[in-house]
Amino acid sequence: MIEPLIRTENLSKTFGEAGSFFLRSKGSSVRAVDGVSFSINRGETVAVVGESGCGKSTMGRLLLRLIDATEGSVFFEGTDINTLSRSEMRQMRRKAQMVFQDPYGSLSPRRSIADIVAEPLEAFGLVRNRREKRERVAELLNQVGLSPSFMDRNPRQFSGGQRQRIGIARAISVDPSFLVADEPVSALDVSVQAQIVNLLQDLQEQKRFTYLFIAHDLAVVRHIADRVMVMYLGRIVEIGNKEQIYSAPQHPYTQALLSAAPEPDPDVKAKRIILEGDVPSPTRVPPGCSFHTRCPLAQDICRAERPALREVTPGQSAACHFARPNPIPA
Ligand code: SF4
Repeated sequence: MIEPLIRTENLSKTFGEAGSFFLRSKGSSVRAVDGVSFSINRGETVAVVGESGCGKSTMGRLLLRLIDATEGSVFFEGTDINTLSRSEMRQMRRKAQMVFQDPYGSLSPRRSIADIVAEPLEAFGLVRNRREKRERVAELLNQVGLSPSFMDRNPRQFSGGQRQRIGIARAISVDPSFLVADEPVSALDVSVQAQIVNLLQDLQEQKRFTYLFIAHDLAVVRHIADRVMVMYLGRIVEIGNKEQIYSAPQHPYTQALLSAAPEPDPDVKAKRIILEGDVPSPTRVPPGCSFHTRCPLAQDICRAERPALREVTPGQSAACHFARPNPIPA
């Protein structure tokens, strides 16, 4: 069996359990990621989709160990990253990089593009002098569709889409194998979003990157994802390949997200579900199925028993008591 590039086992993160006076004093903690197990194969793009607060960005950070897990493990190239020494962790960081959501906030406004893009190169000692640095930055700017003549300017002189290209150039500068793209297009105009998604796809073809692509909108990831994982209140509620998720979603929440798309997918055969109300507070996750407070199909068992994530059709799993290979009956 081929070892996936990255794999998680029962990965969980709780904020405010200990050490946070503010949260502790209110008697609350937030289980931002709750028992998540999945894997990503080399060269694959797995998209993580869900509303704000579902834990998708926290999970992205756990995969790169930018924050520590409360429970569970992350295996990168077969090794539990919690067991890595400081220097091994440093090498892993070179192989696993992040593209941030906010191209406005993630680039220091006073530094030149050359300094920003070359920061990881210098941190890992991959350029020996100024000439090498500028040559490498020029190459990277070309790769992301920007003119090398921009390298002495600062981020304020660029549009949102251009800034995200700069962020991508910085992330790929150290030749990573794995990229977590944390809502890389959410802050951009719709017209620019497709350009950035296309750029990420082109780079993947050229360099065989593996992606975890985080988004709150299923429409955004449709063209880039091989598999889609839908999260709700810290848990995976559905995971499957792209065709399964878009043409035969099993979980009512996935169906609701597809129904909410500006142009609902004509291929979606399942009953359309309009999502009402807000996501409950993560400090008060509803018992049983955490989606029951918003689910139009909820029944008594949903309020009492938490549904396990189980395979419904080969390659497609859903956490719903009523998930079947065919659309859920009304
Ligand atoms: Fe809805 Fe019940 Fe399925 Fe949860 S288990 S998604 S509440 S039908």
